[in-house]
Amino acid sequence: MKEYDVIIVGAGIAGLTAAIYVARANKTVLVLESKIHGGQIINTFKIDNWPGDYGVSGANLMQKIYAQAVDLGAKVEYEDAVGITKKDDKFTVVTDDNEYIAGAVILAMGTEPRKLSEKQTKDAGKRAISYCATCDGALYKGKPVVVVGSGNTAKHEIAYLKNIASEVYHIHHDDPIPEPAVAVFVAIGRVPNTGFLKDFVKMDSKGYVVAGEDCHTSVKGVFVAGDCRTKSVRQLVTASADGAVSAIEAVQYLG
Ligand SMILES: Cc1cc2nc3c(=O)[nH]c(=O)nc-3n(C[C@H](O)[C@H](O)[C@H](O)COP(=O)(O)OP(=O)(O)OC[C@H]3O[C@@H](n4cnc5c(N)ncnc54)[C@H](O)[C@@H]3O)c2cc1C
Repeated sequence: MKEYDVIIVGAGIAGLTAAIYVARANKTVLVLESKIHGGQIINTFKIDNWPGDYGVSGANLMQKIYAQAVDLGAKVEYEDAVGITKKDDKFTVVTDDNEYIAGAVILAMGTEPRKLSEKQTKDAGKRAISYCATCDGALYKGKPVVVVGSGNTAKHEIAYLKNIASEVYHIHHDDPIPEPAVAVFVAIGRVPNTGFLKDFVKMDSKGYVVAGEDCHTSVKGVFVAGDCRTKSVRQLVTASADGAVSAIEAVQYLG
């Protein structure tokens, strides 16, 4: 079993910023990523509030941050973390492929789109279900589609799809899916990727890992950074700031 000083779960902006700080403190660091590095921002074409790189695309920004973390010595493995246990002062992080040992763990799993209800999934039948209009909208050029959701993300998806689809229906959570729609775009909020931590670390009723600005969790040696933490503002700069804080705290914890 390979051992690292720090294991970070999630290669979004929080996890990769943490990796930069841990590596620069001369500690060994493994970042586990279940999908592709970069996190939820990679499909955004233009970011206007990331300081110093006005209008950068999510993919470009995250590729630069990833390259920086790797150049500084972070190791990245594309594996899904499915469990964490603590014995004495060591943590075992279990993935779908391996088990790794660490002296400290940083949780940075972010959030994922809330899934369509069972009723609407059944109603959608064989129609395509998408959680990202900018990723999949072009597939439905000239065809009728439906957007499910009531918030700002739904409004954004509708505006985007209006330039592509022949018709954009708009319905709310649990409304019946309109017959002519060939694809269903879901925009009903996001949920934290923390299911695998149940009973290991304290979470709030929505599944966010409970921590304050110091990023300490209920388990000594486990820190949390970014959108999966209880906090009021979920943005790139706040996730990145958490990455720095959690890494500094983890390094201090290790001594
Ligand atoms: C459409 C959209 C547009 C946005 N636009 C902006 C913007 O313009 N400006 C701004 O500041 N913010 C924006 N945000 C918010 C911003 O993207 C987030 O605040 C930020 O990405 C959170 O970073 P994170 O690292 O905490 O989580 P994430 O980016 O969600 O990264 C978490 C990573 O962890 C991985 N992961 C999850 N579970 C596991 C597991 N069990 N094992 C291994 N890996 C796992 C995920 O695959 C993911 O790669 C936007 C968000 C969206 C969805």
